[in-house]
Amino acid sequence: MIETKVLQISPELSIDVVRKDIKNMHLAVYPPNGRVRVAAPLRIDDEVVRLFAISRLGWIKRQQRKFVAQDRQSPRLYKERESHYFQGKRFLLRVIEVDAPPKVVIKTKTYIDLYVRPGTDTKQRETIVNEWYRAELKKLIPLLIEKWSNQFGVTVNDWQVKHMKTKWGTCNIEKKRIWVNLELAKKPIPCLEYLIVHELVHLIERHHNDRFLTLMEKHMPQWKFYKEELNRLPVSHGEWTY
Ligand SMILES: [Zn+2]
Repeated sequence: MIETKVLQISPELSIDVVRKDIKNMHLAVYPPNGRVRVAAPLRIDDEVVRLFAISRLGWIKRQQRKFVAQDRQSPRLYKERESHYFQGKRFLLRVIEVDAPPKVVIKTKTYIDLYVRPGTDTKQRETIVNEWYRAELKKLIPLLIEKWSNQFGVTVNDWQVKHMKTKWGTCNIEKKRIWVNLELAKKPIPCLEYLIVHELVHLIERHHNDRFLTLMEKHMPQWKFYKEELNRLPVSHGEWTY
């Protein structure tokens, strides 16, 4: 039996707790976002896990800072073996030059294959990869909007994927229109789903008030975890808001 839950350790830190048939607790911090996971024996209760995590807080923070520093490295050059993220996972770029229309393909857990014509420069490669991200988001968004607009009994007239500098998403309540940040293609799918739920809840409640929070809690009890996941690692500099 494996049981997982999210435990809030401090206002800024929540951890994934996985209970399974093991003897000792293990704590690990994972790239790229510094997610913390504790594996605990089945009978250990939450308070013990919490104290265990707190006792290692200094180490956790150091690890997280390291990952953030790594990820704020130089801008992407779209070169061989460069790190790129897709749906929350890190891949290495493999550049394949071939005289055919460009495309991006994932065939293994390790590589994003970027097929380009010889002589395709960095800027063009970036455009090709971004269009692929956009296309991937466009496969998921309609399904998520359909699922959640049915759940909430709201109508979305229009949605678009946008390159936005400071927001993960926006909602135009009058026009019932949702914009989703292209960067979400790089984040775990539950984070995209959280953003969509958040924007859809705005169609019921404009402000981030108690009513808004109650709706989030009711329909997506883990929303804080996803929000943290999104905000832990800003993709561009600047304040991220919703
Ligand atoms: Zn909002």
